[in-house]
Amino acid sequence: MPKITLKDVTMIYPFQKVSGLFGRKQKQLILKQQQEMPYTSNEGVIALQHFDGVIEDGSFTVVLGPSGSGKSTLLRIVAGLERPVLGEVCFDDVLCNDVPAQERDVAMVFQNYSLYPNQTVYQNIAFPLEVKHIPREEIEAEVKKIAKLLRLDEKLNRLPQELSGGERQRVAIARALIRKPSVILFDEPFSNLDVLMRKELRNELKQIHETCKTTFIYVTHDQYDALYLAERIVILKDGIKQMDASVSDVYNYPANRFCAQFIGSSTFNLFEDIPVGKDGRYKLFGQTYELTEKQQKRLGKAKTLDAGIRGTNLAVSDLGVDAIVEYTEMIEADLIVHAKAEEKEIILVEKMNGSNEMKYMRGQPIRIAFDPKYFHLFNQNGERIN
Ligand code: ADP
Ligand code: MG
Repeated sequence: MPKITLKDVTMIYPFQKVSGLFGRKQKQLILKQQQEMPYTSNEGVIALQHFDGVIEDGSFTVVLGPSGSGKSTLLRIVAGLERPVLGEVCFDDVLCNDVPAQERDVAMVFQNYSLYPNQTVYQNIAFPLEVKHIPREEIEAEVKKIAKLLRLDEKLNRLPQELSGGERQRVAIARALIRKPSVILFDEPFSNLDVLMRKELRNELKQIHETCKTTFIYVTHDQYDALYLAERIVILKDGIKQMDASVSDVYNYPANRFCAQFIGSSTFNLFEDIPVGKDGRYKLFGQTYELTEKQQKRLGKAKTLDAGIRGTNLAVSDLGVDAIVEYTEMIEADLIVHAKAEEKEIILVEKMNGSNEMKYMRGQPIRIAFDPKYFHLFNQNGERIN
């Protein structure tokens, strides 16, 4: 099974031309596209820019980013469905830019399942082996094994339309697995499923990876998918890699403001434009903190920083900052407390414990303790400095 190395991989899609439009009209359309897309060159839309990365053999990598950030483009390039305009795609150090998709030993699972509607679950799963002319008994044994792994053994005679969304996606995963490819690429496979089904399938996918140890590259815009599934997370924005690190590093040491806010988005507190003195001191809610020399250097010439802290790293404590409760929300096992101090919104997360949901009423004064150990400090370019 291969290690995949990407070097300086760049993808530009030419601007869409509409047949029937010529001359000035066509030019205007292109100009409009140029203005609407965040990254364009004269040639077209830049979907991926100078992407470097190594996908280790047998690893589970999640590529995380908002819509339009280049995730599918990256997968299509690895799969060989797209040829990058620049850069190298290597499987085990062999340059593969010109190796066609069918020779790459890569399987893909899509959001919309892409099953054959008129074929049964059995036929859908068996298809990749049938085209290889493998003996019937052997195929049957393999299909049964895989169907069992994906809990489809009772559904083999059904048609895709007679299955739930979760079951359809299980069929698609089974069809990818049965080929025993060296890499499986997943493009937002659970996006069409409800929350519970997502969780169930996430769980199963993780177990499947542990069993088969095939290289998995999984693309999603959902931070929970990423945090739960990945060994490694690659974060993309506007076709540019923002971070490439372990799950815990992405969570605890986000490389920039974008990564910090994207992971744990709804409960990340960001306090912007905090003045920093010549001595490296800054104040947050009446408390004074000091930057180290190294941090001051990374701050650059700017005299302000942005400080972030996750709601899960805040605690209610008598020694804390004075704040007033605005409202609370319950999300699964978490109690989210929205409060205000010095005109700033603060979000704090506590584990629900059966009594704390009654503790915080609108208008109630509380104190919130800030532990600088959990601060994420960013300079004016949004880069982490601590
Ligand atoms: P994601 O999967 O993260 O949503 P994509 O890789 O699909 O992002 O797209 C990245 C960018 O490239 C987007 O701006 C998108 O509009 C553009 N793009 C993708 N595919 C094409 C294409 N075939 N032609 C033109 N532009 C495209
Ligand atoms: Mg996509």
